[in-house]
Formats: sequence, C-alpha cells, structure tokens
Amino acid sequence: MGCAQPARRPLDPAAIKECRVTVVGAGRSGRAAATLVSRAGGVVRLTDADSGAVSEAERRKFSAQGVDIRTGPHSEQDFAEAEMVVLSPGIPERQIAPFLPKATPVISELELALAWVQEPIMAVTGTNGKTTTVSLLAHILRTRGIHCFEGGNIGTPLSEYVLAGQEAEVLVLEVSSFQLQHTFSLRPKVGVWLNFSLNHLDHHQDVEEYRAAKRSLFANQTPTDRALVHASLWPEIRGTQLTRAHITVFDREHGFTAPQLPGAHNSSNLEAAYLACAPWGISVQAAQEAFSSYIPHPHRLQGVREINGVLFVNDSKATTVHALQAALHSFDRPIHLLAGGRYKGGDLRAVAELIQRQVRSVTLFGESREIFVQAWESIVPMHWLPNLEDAVVYAAGLAVPGDMVLLSPAMSSFDLFANYAARGEAFIRAVEGLGDKGIGELRDSEK
Ligand code: ADP
Repeated sequence: MGCAQPARRPLDPAAIKECRVTVVGAGRSGRAAATLVSRAGGVVRLTDADSGAVSEAERRKFSAQGVDIRTGPHSEQDFAEAEMVVLSPGIPERQIAPFLPKATPVISELELALAWVQEPIMAVTGTNGKTTTVSLLAHILRTRGIHCFEGGNIGTPLSEYVLAGQEAEVLVLEVSSFQLQHTFSLRPKVGVWLNFSLNHLDHHQDVEEYRAAKRSLFANQTPTDRALVHASLWPEIRGTQLTRAHITVFDREHGFTAPQLPGAHNSSNLEAAYLACAPWGISVQAAQEAFSSYIPHPHRLQGVREINGVLFVNDSKATTVHALQAALHSFDRPIHLLAGGRYKGGDLRAVAELIQRQVRSVTLFGESREIFVQAWESIVPMHWLPNLEDAVVYAAGLAVPGDMVLLSPAMSSFDLFANYAARGEAFIRAVEGLGDKGIGELRDSEK
C-alpha cells in the first residue's frame, strides 16, 4: 500500500521515504507540507490552480529541494503516479476529484504533520469563534508560563511547527471542517465544538457532510480526554455516539468578561477557553485575570471610532448569518447595518425578528442584493450601493447620535475584496475618511 494512510493512526514518517506525494495548494500550508515530505525523503509535486501562485525565484528554490512545481488549472498530470495527495486547508476535494485516480488516499496538511507530533493537543472547531477561542486559550496558557503552539487552520500551519523543530508543551489548533474531512488520526486531549450553522455549503456536498466533519473531531478520543460542546449543540449530540471522552456541555456558567469582546457569544468563547485549560491546573480566577489582558484580533466586532455620538464597528469577519446574529445580540444601540458579499449558505430570514427590533436601516453593497431584499424588504428600509466606501457614507448619513454603524456583512468578501481583512481595512479607511463631518449630514452633502 505504499505510503498510504493506516486507518485512524498517524502516518509513519519512515513510510514517506520515496513515496510519491502530490501537495495541492502552494500557499503557506502547502509549501510547508511539501518541504516536510521532501525532508522525509518523499518525492513531491506541489500544485496550484493559480498559475501565478509561485514566483520564478521560489520555483528555483523548490526545484533545488527536488520539489516539482505544477501551476495552472489542475489536470490528471498533477496526480499521475501519486501514491498520496495532501490537501491544503480550504481546498475542497471536489476541486481535484475529476483528475484523481480512484483509491488515491487524500489527507489534510494537518494529518501529514500529525505524523511528527506527540504533544497533547487542544483542538477547536465550530462555524464561528474558532480563531477567537484558540487565541484566548493560548493567551491563558502563556500567562501561566505554559509554552504552547498556536495555529492550524489559520496563522502558522502545524507543518511549519514541525519543520521548525519546536517543542511546545501543548498544541492549540484551530481546525476547520475541510481539514477534518481528511484528518483521520487526530486525538485531541481536549476537543472544543463551539457551534454549528449552515455555512460552506458552497464547498461541502451537503449539510450532513459538514456536520459529519465537525463531529469527527471527537472520534478518536478516549475516556481520559475531554469533549467540550456548546449547549446549542446538545440536540445535535443527544443520544448519539459522539465520543468516548468525558463530555462537558457549556454555555456561560462563569460569566467571564474580556475588554473589547462584547456579547453573549464571546462569553461562551471565554467559558470554552477556561474549561479547555482547566486540566492544566488553571483556576477560574487565573482565567479571568488572563482575559483582562487579552487583545482581540481585528475585524471581529472591532470598535473603530465614535463620531458625534455614532459608533462605527468593524465585524468584517462575520461571513455567516450566524455571526451576524451574534453581532446583533451584542449591542443595544439602534443599528445601521452594512451587509453584502458572496453568498455561501445560511437563511437570512432566521434573523428577521432581530433586524426588525434593532436595525434602523440596511445599506447593502456588492453581491447578494436580491437575497437580502427577499428576506428583509418588508421589515426594514434598504438601500444598495455598488461599493463599500459609498455604503459607509450613506449609512453614516442616516445615523443620529446614540446609533451605531455596523459592518457585519453575513457574506464572504470575495466579490469585491481579496479577503475579509481587506474588506475590514477598507471599512476603517472609509470611516476615517468621514473626518469630523456632522453625522446625519453626510448623505445630504453627497447629493
Ligand atoms: P472563526 O475563526 O470560526 O471564523 P472568529 O473568532 O474569527 O471565528 O469570528 C468570526 C465571526 O464570528 C466574528 O464576526 C465574530 O464576532 C463571530 N463569532 C465569534 N464567536 C462566535 C460564537 N461563539 N458564535 C457566533 N458568532 C461568533
């Protein structure tokens, strides 16, 4: 079986020697995976559907390592003779399936890297809140002097950790549903499942596939491990064989708070972070102390500025209806909402009542206008502009002191921007560009 994956056990690094491996995706994770396989003596081909993904200089560097680079639309050639395929996070198997010989094992970059690690793992999954919770977890551990690695689906891929030869006491991993679909041997000491809502249906075959991927985080756990599952998921897991680990269902029992992490959803994230660290001897008090010095990631309910009594909040990372819902629950000021972008699943009608109660106006920008209009037209005044910058000016013109202008788009950014961060930065620039002009007058001056 060549270097193929033994069921539920990590790969044997020795088995990778001379194994022919195609790595899909030449981003940070794919490059690290390719280097890892090549160092283990494997024969690597690194592919990317984007023909500009690898520069000439980088190509030469990889060639010197013996890595064969193929960029441009995928074809059978990319996988010819491959004994194993390694997928970068975020690339759905569907993209390569037409070119893949039957029975070629496909594993995630995470699965590959697991072959080299022995450290205890904390793994966090969920539709929303993964990055926040992972960074909270890592922050608690660090404040208590516990050396941890933080990464996985975002930031540093696990393969880079392995390549760097680091030795952390704990690995804190963010794990996405795409990664889980092709990860077979992960056995987290603590597994955290934050929530589940319709998302990524543009990538997953159906909702069952998405759900099964999330559940698989717990499949290899044993009774000495811990599964932390948010209370909203209880109906999902009740009466099912989720795991052999000890299950704790959590919500916001301790009422933890942290500066600049508003909302009940963040209080749940804080609870999850505390519970995950508890086996490392962290007390409630120590966790709360750590939370007080936590600095949140930008683009998640990030307060940008208050102008003449109107607060501007950047929640560009809210790419799902579920995240929008969390945002609306987090403030009691009247809201002027900026939304729009590329649709990837979710039912906007699910938040209609909240919109009706809290939102004074919706200014749409970019794609998906019809989806929003169909869902909310009869309950809130709506307007559409082609770009975010004009939408900011328009929404600001509608706000009066005491209101807030909230960018919480509920859609991905790929219609107008490279990613959510670029969208958030464009929002911040547009808000800064408003200067000290009287809010509520801006729209008139635009006329
Ligand atoms: P992820 O890494 O899963 O995308 P982030 O921590 O980056 O999660 O947050 C993404 C978006 O989801 C932000 O808009 C944030 O405010 C929102 N969010 C964070 N935690 C939760 C939660 N527990 N439930 C719902 N929404 C959340």
